[in-house]
Amino acid sequence: MISEYMMGLGKKRSVIREIFEYGNKRKQEIGSENVFDFSLGNPSVPAPESVERAIRDILKQEESIVLHGYTSAQGDYKVRETIANYVNSTQNTKVVPEDIYMTVGAAASLTISIKAITLPGDEFITFTPFFPEYGVFVESAGAKLVTVASREEDFQVDFHRFQEAITPKTKAVIINSPNNPSGVVFSEETIQGICKILKEKQKEYGHDIYLISDEPYRELVYDDIKVPYLLHYYDNTFVCYSFSKSLSLPGERIGYIIVSNKMNQAKDVYAAVCGAGRALGYVCAPSLFQKVVARCIGQTADISVYKKNRDLLVDALTKFGFHCVKPDGAFYLFVKALEEDANAFCEKAKKYELLLVPGDDFGCKGYVRISYCVSTEQIQRAIPAFEKLAEEYCVKQ
Ligand code: PLP
Repeated sequence: MISEYMMGLGKKRSVIREIFEYGNKRKQEIGSENVFDFSLGNPSVPAPESVERAIRDILKQEESIVLHGYTSAQGDYKVRETIANYVNSTQNTKVVPEDIYMTVGAAASLTISIKAITLPGDEFITFTPFFPEYGVFVESAGAKLVTVASREEDFQVDFHRFQEAITPKTKAVIINSPNNPSGVVFSEETIQGICKILKEKQKEYGHDIYLISDEPYRELVYDDIKVPYLLHYYDNTFVCYSFSKSLSLPGERIGYIIVSNKMNQAKDVYAAVCGAGRALGYVCAPSLFQKVVARCIGQTADISVYKKNRDLLVDALTKFGFHCVKPDGAFYLFVKALEEDANAFCEKAKKYELLLVPGDDFGCKGYVRISYCVSTEQIQRAIPAFEKLAEEYCVKQ
Protein backbone atom coordinates (compact mmCIF):
# COMPACT_ATOMS: atom_id res chain seq x y z
CA MET A 1 0.00 0.00 0.00
CA ILE A 2 1.19 3.50 -0.77
CA SER A 3 -0.31 6.90 -0.11
CA GLU A 4 -3.28 7.36 -2.44
CA TYR A 5 -3.15 11.09 -1.76
CA MET A 6 0.49 11.40 -2.82
CA MET A 7 -0.05 9.16 -5.83
CA GLY A 8 -3.00 11.31 -6.89
CA LEU A 9 -0.87 14.42 -6.48
CA GLY A 10 1.90 12.95 -8.58
CA LYS A 11 -0.47 11.85 -11.33
CA LYS A 12 -2.60 15.00 -11.38
CA ARG A 13 -1.99 16.83 -14.61
CA SER A 14 -0.58 20.34 -14.31
CA VAL A 15 -2.37 22.48 -16.84
CA ILE A 16 0.56 24.91 -16.99
CA ARG A 17 3.07 22.14 -17.66
CA GLU A 18 0.81 20.61 -20.30
CA ILE A 19 0.56 23.91 -22.16
CA PHE A 20 4.31 24.40 -21.85
CA GLU A 21 4.97 20.91 -23.30
CA TYR A 22 2.51 21.58 -26.10
CA GLY A 23 4.41 24.81 -26.80
CA ASN A 24 7.73 22.97 -27.03
CA LYS A 25 6.24 20.56 -29.54
CA ARG A 26 4.74 23.39 -31.54
CA LYS A 27 8.06 25.29 -31.55
CA GLN A 28 9.74 22.29 -33.17
CA GLU A 29 7.00 22.14 -35.80
CA ILE A 30 6.75 25.81 -36.80
CA GLY A 31 9.79 27.52 -35.28
CA SER A 32 10.06 29.08 -31.83
CA GLU A 33 9.60 32.63 -33.18
CA ASN A 34 6.08 31.70 -34.30
CA VAL A 35 4.84 30.38 -30.96
CA PHE A 36 3.77 32.89 -28.29
CA ASP A 37 4.26 31.00 -25.10
CA PHE A 38 2.90 32.91 -22.07
CA SER A 39 2.52 29.86 -19.84
CA LEU A 40 5.38 29.75 -17.33
CA GLY A 41 6.54 32.09 -14.58
CA ASN A 42 10.24 31.58 -15.24
CA PRO A 43 12.12 34.91 -15.05
CA SER A 44 13.22 35.99 -18.54
CA VAL A 45 16.04 38.30 -17.49
CA PRO A 46 19.39 36.90 -16.39
CA ALA A 47 20.63 37.04 -12.82
CA PRO A 48 22.67 40.21 -12.21
CA GLU A 49 26.41 39.98 -12.91
CA SER A 50 27.06 40.29 -9.20
CA VAL A 51 25.71 36.75 -8.76
CA GLU A 52 28.37 35.23 -11.01
CA ARG A 53 31.02 37.43 -9.39
CA ALA A 54 29.90 36.32 -5.93
CA ILE A 55 30.01 32.64 -6.93
CA ARG A 56 33.54 33.01 -8.31
CA ASP A 57 34.78 35.01 -5.31
CA ILE A 58 33.28 32.61 -2.79
CA LEU A 59 34.77 29.60 -4.58
CA LYS A 60 38.16 31.32 -4.61
CA GLN A 61 38.07 32.67 -1.08
CA GLU A 62 36.43 29.96 0.97
CA GLU A 63 37.92 26.66 1.89
CA SER A 64 36.08 23.99 -0.12
CA ILE A 65 35.57 21.61 2.81
CA VAL A 66 33.82 24.37 4.75
CA LEU A 67 31.94 25.93 1.84
CA HIS A 68 30.43 22.67 0.67
CA GLY A 69 29.78 21.38 4.16
CA TYR A 70 26.54 21.61 6.12
CA THR A 71 25.67 24.94 7.65
CA SER A 72 23.57 24.97 10.80
CA ALA A 73 20.09 23.55 10.18
CA GLN A 74 18.46 26.99 10.15
CA GLY A 75 21.17 28.48 7.92
CA ASP A 76 24.58 30.11 8.26
CA TYR A 77 24.52 32.65 11.13
CA LYS A 78 26.40 35.37 9.22
CA VAL A 79 24.03 34.98 6.26
CA ARG A 80 21.03 35.36 8.54
CA GLU A 81 22.69 38.37 10.17
CA THR A 82 23.20 40.01 6.76
CA ILE A 83 19.56 39.40 5.86
CA ALA A 84 18.35 40.73 9.22
CA ASN A 85 20.48 43.89 8.83
CA TYR A 86 19.20 44.42 5.30
CA VAL A 87 15.54 44.01 6.25
CA ASN A 88 16.03 46.33 9.25
CA SER A 89 17.71 49.03 7.18
CA THR A 90 15.11 48.95 4.38
CA GLN A 91 11.96 48.24 6.39
CA ASN A 92 12.79 49.84 9.72
CA THR A 93 12.22 46.59 11.60
CA LYS A 94 14.04 44.88 14.48
CA VAL A 95 14.64 41.44 12.99
CA VAL A 96 17.48 39.37 14.50
CA PRO A 97 19.27 36.38 12.93
CA GLU A 98 17.49 34.13 15.44
CA ASP A 99 14.15 34.98 13.72
CA ILE A 100 15.34 33.74 10.33
CA TYR A 101 15.27 30.24 8.85
CA MET A 102 16.95 29.73 5.46
CA THR A 103 14.93 27.63 3.01
CA VAL A 104 14.96 26.26 -0.51
CA GLY A 105 12.68 28.96 -1.95
CA ALA A 106 9.20 30.26 -1.19
CA ALA A 107 7.58 26.85 -1.65
CA ALA A 108 9.64 25.49 1.24
CA SER A 109 9.14 28.68 3.28
CA LEU A 110 5.40 28.09 2.97
CA THR A 111 5.34 24.34 3.60
CA ILE A 112 7.55 24.73 6.67
CA SER A 113 5.50 27.62 8.11
CA ILE A 114 2.24 25.77 7.47
CA LYS A 115 3.48 22.50 8.98
CA ALA A 116 4.90 24.32 12.01
CA ILE A 117 1.46 25.55 13.10
CA THR A 118 -1.04 22.99 11.78
CA LEU A 119 -3.19 20.82 14.05
CA PRO A 120 -5.78 18.36 12.71
CA GLY A 121 -8.96 20.13 11.60
CA ASP A 122 -7.30 23.52 11.04
CA GLU A 123 -8.33 25.80 8.21
CA PHE A 124 -6.19 28.22 6.20
CA ILE A 125 -7.80 31.10 4.34
CA THR A 126 -6.55 32.64 1.12
CA PHE A 127 -8.01 35.06 -1.40
CA THR A 128 -8.80 34.40 -5.04
CA PRO A 129 -7.03 34.37 -7.39
CA PHE A 130 -4.30 32.40 -5.62
CA PHE A 131 -1.19 30.32 -6.33
CA PRO A 132 -2.63 26.79 -6.83
CA GLU A 133 0.12 25.08 -4.82
CA TYR A 134 -1.42 26.52 -1.62
CA GLY A 135 -4.01 23.75 -1.84
CA VAL A 136 -1.28 21.12 -1.97
CA PHE A 137 0.80 22.70 0.81
CA VAL A 138 -2.15 23.11 3.19
CA GLU A 139 -3.81 19.74 2.51
CA SER A 140 -0.59 17.77 2.80
CA ALA A 141 -0.06 19.32 6.24
CA GLY A 142 -3.46 17.90 7.20
CA ALA A 143 -5.48 21.13 7.04
CA LYS A 144 -8.13 22.56 4.72
CA LEU A 145 -7.76 25.52 2.36
CA VAL A 146 -10.72 27.93 2.41
CA THR A 147 -10.83 30.45 -0.42
CA VAL A 148 -12.44 33.88 -0.28
CA ALA A 149 -13.45 35.62 -3.48
CA SER A 150 -11.77 39.00 -3.91
CA ARG A 151 -13.51 42.11 -5.31
CA GLU A 152 -13.70 41.53 -9.02
CA GLU A 153 -13.10 45.17 -9.94
CA ASP A 154 -9.62 45.37 -8.40
CA PHE A 155 -8.83 42.00 -6.76
CA GLN A 156 -8.48 43.68 -3.37
CA VAL A 157 -10.01 41.88 -0.36
CA ASP A 158 -13.76 41.86 0.20
CA PHE A 159 -13.76 42.36 3.99
CA HIS A 160 -17.33 41.19 4.43
CA ARG A 161 -16.67 37.85 2.70
CA PHE A 162 -13.40 37.53 4.61
CA GLN A 163 -15.10 38.06 7.95
CA GLU A 164 -17.75 35.49 7.06
CA ALA A 165 -15.10 32.88 6.18
CA ILE A 166 -13.22 33.05 9.51
CA THR A 167 -14.23 30.41 12.03
CA PRO A 168 -12.73 29.10 15.28
CA LYS A 169 -10.92 26.57 13.06
CA THR A 170 -9.03 29.29 11.18
CA LYS A 171 -5.33 28.83 11.90
CA ALA A 172 -3.85 31.27 9.40
CA VAL A 173 -4.41 33.51 6.43
CA ILE A 174 -2.07 33.29 3.45
CA ILE A 175 -1.61 36.44 1.41
CA ASN A 176 0.45 36.91 -1.73
CA SER A 177 1.24 40.45 -2.82
CA PRO A 178 2.37 41.21 -5.53
CA ASN A 179 0.11 38.43 -6.65
CA ASN A 180 0.48 35.46 -8.93
CA PRO A 181 -1.64 35.40 -11.14
CA SER A 182 -3.20 38.91 -11.01
CA GLY A 183 -0.11 41.09 -10.49
CA VAL A 184 -2.17 43.06 -7.96
CA VAL A 185 -0.43 44.62 -4.96
CA PHE A 186 -2.56 44.76 -1.82
CA SER A 187 -3.03 48.39 -0.78
CA GLU A 188 -2.20 49.53 2.74
CA GLU A 189 -5.94 49.86 3.32
CA THR A 190 -6.39 46.18 2.41
CA ILE A 191 -3.57 45.09 4.71
CA GLN A 192 -4.90 47.21 7.56
CA GLY A 193 -8.40 45.80 7.00
CA ILE A 194 -7.18 42.19 7.07
CA CYS A 195 -5.14 42.78 10.22
CA LYS A 196 -7.95 44.59 12.03
CA ILE A 197 -10.34 41.71 11.39
CA LEU A 198 -7.73 39.14 12.45
CA LYS A 199 -7.00 41.00 15.69
CA GLU A 200 -10.72 41.12 16.51
CA LYS A 201 -11.17 37.44 15.74
CA GLN A 202 -8.14 36.45 17.84
CA LYS A 203 -9.71 38.28 20.75
CA GLU A 204 -13.12 36.77 20.15
CA TYR A 205 -11.82 33.17 19.90
CA GLY A 206 -9.05 33.55 22.46
CA HIS A 207 -6.37 31.95 20.29
CA ASP A 208 -3.74 32.99 17.79
CA ILE A 209 -4.46 33.38 14.10
CA TYR A 210 -1.37 33.72 11.94
CA LEU A 211 -0.68 35.70 8.83
CA ILE A 212 1.60 34.09 6.25
CA SER A 213 2.96 36.57 3.74
CA ASP A 214 4.13 34.81 0.58
CA GLU A 215 6.32 37.39 -1.10
CA PRO A 216 8.61 36.11 -3.85
CA TYR A 217 7.62 39.13 -5.97
CA ARG A 218 8.23 41.83 -3.33
CA GLU A 219 10.76 43.76 -5.45
CA LEU A 220 8.90 43.34 -8.74
CA VAL A 221 6.72 46.44 -8.53
CA TYR A 222 6.24 49.33 -10.93
CA ASP A 223 5.53 53.06 -10.82
CA ASP A 224 6.74 53.62 -7.23
CA ILE A 225 4.11 51.31 -5.79
CA LYS A 226 4.80 50.42 -2.14
CA VAL A 227 4.32 46.91 -0.81
CA PRO A 228 3.47 47.20 2.91
CA TYR A 229 5.81 45.19 5.14
CA LEU A 230 3.63 42.90 7.21
CA LEU A 231 5.79 42.90 10.36
CA HIS A 232 4.59 46.47 10.98
CA TYR A 233 0.92 45.57 10.84
CA TYR A 234 0.45 42.24 12.58
CA ASP A 235 2.51 40.51 15.26
CA ASN A 236 1.64 36.88 14.42
CA THR A 237 3.30 37.09 11.01
CA PHE A 238 5.52 34.77 9.00
CA VAL A 239 7.34 36.40 6.07
CA CYS A 240 8.01 33.77 3.39
CA TYR A 241 10.59 35.17 1.01
CA SER A 242 12.45 33.78 -1.99
CA PHE A 243 15.24 35.03 -4.25
CA SER A 244 13.78 33.06 -7.19
CA LYS A 245 12.28 36.07 -8.94
CA SER A 246 14.19 39.07 -7.59
CA LEU A 247 17.60 37.65 -8.50
CA SER A 248 16.30 35.37 -11.31
CA LEU A 249 17.53 32.27 -9.48
CA PRO A 250 14.49 29.94 -9.38
CA GLY A 251 16.52 26.81 -10.08
CA GLU A 252 18.97 27.46 -7.26
CA ARG A 253 16.22 27.14 -4.62
CA ILE A 254 17.02 29.74 -2.01
CA GLY A 255 14.83 31.84 0.28
CA TYR A 256 14.01 32.36 3.95
CA ILE A 257 11.32 32.63 6.60
CA ILE A 258 11.15 35.43 9.14
CA VAL A 259 9.17 34.49 12.24
CA SER A 260 8.14 37.82 13.76
CA ASN A 261 9.78 38.21 17.16
CA LYS A 262 6.66 40.06 18.29
CA MET A 263 4.63 36.90 17.73
CA ASN A 264 2.95 35.32 20.71
CA GLN A 265 5.46 32.71 22.08
CA ALA A 266 7.81 33.65 19.25
CA LYS A 267 10.67 31.43 20.43
CA ASP A 268 8.45 28.34 20.57
CA VAL A 269 7.03 29.10 17.13
CA TYR A 270 10.56 29.49 15.77
CA ALA A 271 11.41 26.11 17.35
CA ALA A 272 8.34 24.65 15.60
CA VAL A 273 9.66 26.08 12.32
CA CYS A 274 13.00 24.36 12.94
CA GLY A 275 11.08 21.17 13.78
CA ALA A 276 8.97 21.39 10.64
CA GLY A 277 12.08 22.02 8.54
CA ARG A 278 13.59 18.93 10.10
CA ALA A 279 10.46 16.81 9.62
CA LEU A 280 10.23 17.83 5.97
CA GLY A 281 13.93 17.23 5.35
CA TYR A 282 14.58 20.91 4.64
CA VAL A 283 17.52 21.43 6.96
CA CYS A 284 20.49 23.45 5.79
CA ALA A 285 19.57 25.29 2.58
CA PRO A 286 22.29 25.09 -0.14
CA SER A 287 25.42 26.45 1.45
CA LEU A 288 26.95 28.14 -1.62
CA PHE A 289 23.74 29.98 -2.47
CA GLN A 290 23.12 31.07 1.10
CA LYS A 291 26.44 32.90 0.78
CA VAL A 292 25.72 34.17 -2.72
CA VAL A 293 22.44 35.81 -1.73
CA ALA A 294 24.07 37.35 1.32
CA ARG A 295 26.67 39.00 -0.94
CA CYS A 296 24.00 40.13 -3.40
CA ILE A 297 21.47 41.29 -0.85
CA GLY A 298 19.47 44.31 -2.00
CA GLN A 299 20.21 43.75 -5.67
CA THR A 300 17.82 42.58 -8.34
CA ALA A 301 17.98 41.36 -11.91
CA ASP A 302 17.14 44.09 -14.45
CA ILE A 303 13.40 44.03 -13.90
CA SER A 304 12.73 47.13 -16.06
CA VAL A 305 11.87 44.84 -18.97
CA TYR A 306 8.85 43.51 -17.08
CA LYS A 307 7.36 47.00 -16.80
CA LYS A 308 7.95 47.57 -20.50
CA ASN A 309 6.23 44.26 -21.28
CA ARG A 310 3.33 45.06 -18.98
CA ASP A 311 2.73 48.45 -20.59
CA LEU A 312 2.89 47.05 -24.11
CA LEU A 313 0.47 44.23 -23.33
CA VAL A 314 -2.01 46.20 -21.24
CA ASP A 315 -2.20 48.99 -23.86
CA ALA A 316 -2.69 46.57 -26.76
CA LEU A 317 -5.13 44.24 -25.04
CA THR A 318 -7.27 47.08 -23.71
CA LYS A 319 -7.42 48.54 -27.23
CA PHE A 320 -8.65 45.18 -28.53
CA GLY A 321 -11.46 45.07 -25.95
CA PHE A 322 -9.96 42.78 -23.31
CA HIS A 323 -10.52 43.58 -19.62
CA CYS A 324 -7.97 43.21 -16.85
CA VAL A 325 -6.88 44.91 -13.64
CA LYS A 326 -3.65 46.72 -14.54
CA PRO A 327 -0.99 44.89 -12.55
CA ASP A 328 1.27 46.90 -10.24
CA GLY A 329 3.74 44.08 -9.78
CA ALA A 330 4.97 40.54 -10.49
CA PHE A 331 4.97 39.56 -14.18
CA TYR A 332 1.45 38.28 -14.76
CA LEU A 333 -1.68 39.68 -16.32
CA PHE A 334 -5.03 38.15 -15.38
CA VAL A 335 -7.40 38.81 -18.24
CA LYS A 336 -11.11 38.13 -18.53
CA ALA A 337 -11.62 35.46 -21.19
CA LEU A 338 -13.92 36.46 -24.02
CA GLU A 339 -16.23 33.57 -23.27
CA GLU A 340 -17.38 31.96 -20.02
CA ASP A 341 -15.27 28.84 -20.41
CA ALA A 342 -11.63 29.87 -20.05
CA ASN A 343 -10.45 26.44 -21.21
CA ALA A 344 -12.38 26.79 -24.47
CA PHE A 345 -10.98 30.31 -24.84
CA CYS A 346 -7.41 29.04 -24.39
CA GLU A 347 -8.07 26.37 -27.03
CA LYS A 348 -9.18 29.10 -29.45
CA ALA A 349 -6.10 31.15 -28.59
CA LYS A 350 -3.95 28.19 -29.66
CA LYS A 351 -5.22 28.70 -33.23
CA TYR A 352 -3.18 31.92 -33.20
CA GLU A 353 -0.26 30.18 -31.46
CA LEU A 354 -1.05 32.05 -28.23
CA LEU A 355 -0.41 29.85 -25.19
CA LEU A 356 -2.38 31.15 -22.21
CA VAL A 357 -3.29 29.48 -18.91
CA PRO A 358 -6.95 29.10 -17.85
CA GLY A 359 -7.69 30.74 -14.48
CA ASP A 360 -9.74 27.86 -13.02
CA ASP A 361 -6.84 26.45 -10.99
CA PHE A 362 -6.21 29.92 -9.55
CA GLY A 363 -9.75 29.90 -8.17
CA CYS A 364 -11.26 32.24 -10.80
CA LYS A 365 -13.28 30.79 -13.62
CA GLY A 366 -13.56 32.83 -16.79
CA TYR A 367 -10.05 34.32 -16.61
CA VAL A 368 -6.71 33.51 -18.21
CA ARG A 369 -3.20 34.17 -16.96
CA ILE A 370 -0.63 35.68 -19.27
CA SER A 371 2.95 35.42 -17.97
CA TYR A 372 4.80 38.33 -19.51
CA CYS A 373 8.23 37.26 -18.26
CA VAL A 374 9.19 36.78 -21.90
CA SER A 375 11.21 38.83 -24.37
CA THR A 376 9.70 42.15 -25.44
CA GLU A 377 10.07 40.94 -29.05
CA GLN A 378 7.76 38.01 -28.29
CA ILE A 379 5.14 40.43 -27.03
CA GLN A 380 5.51 42.66 -30.10
CA ARG A 381 5.15 39.66 -32.40
CA ALA A 382 2.17 38.34 -30.42
CA ILE A 383 0.10 41.54 -30.49
CA PRO A 384 -1.44 40.89 -33.95
CA ALA A 385 -2.37 37.39 -32.75
CA PHE A 386 -4.22 38.86 -29.75
CA GLU A 387 -5.99 41.23 -32.14
CA LYS A 388 -7.13 38.34 -34.34
CA LEU A 389 -8.30 36.42 -31.28
CA ALA A 390 -10.38 39.42 -30.16
CA GLU A 391 -11.80 39.83 -33.67
CA GLU A 392 -13.01 36.26 -33.53
CA TYR A 393 -15.28 37.36 -30.69
CA CYS A 394 -16.13 40.64 -32.46
CA VAL A 395 -15.31 42.78 -29.44
CA LYS A 396 -12.94 45.18 -31.17
CA GLN A 397 -13.97 48.73 -30.34
N1 PLP B 1 4.49 31.56 -4.27
C1 PLP B 1 4.10 32.11 -5.43
C2 PLP B 1 2.99 33.08 -5.42
C3 PLP B 1 4.77 31.80 -6.63
O1 PLP B 1 4.37 32.37 -7.77
C4 PLP B 1 5.84 30.87 -6.59
C5 PLP B 1 6.53 30.48 -7.82
O2 PLP B 1 6.21 30.83 -8.92
C6 PLP B 1 6.19 30.32 -5.36
C7 PLP B 1 5.49 30.67 -4.22
C8 PLP B 1 7.31 29.32 -5.25
O3 PLP B 1 8.51 30.03 -5.35
P1 PLP B 1 9.93 29.32 -5.24
O4 PLP B 1 10.35 28.99 -6.62
O5 PLP B 1 10.82 30.33 -4.62
O6 PLP B 1 9.75 28.12 -4.40
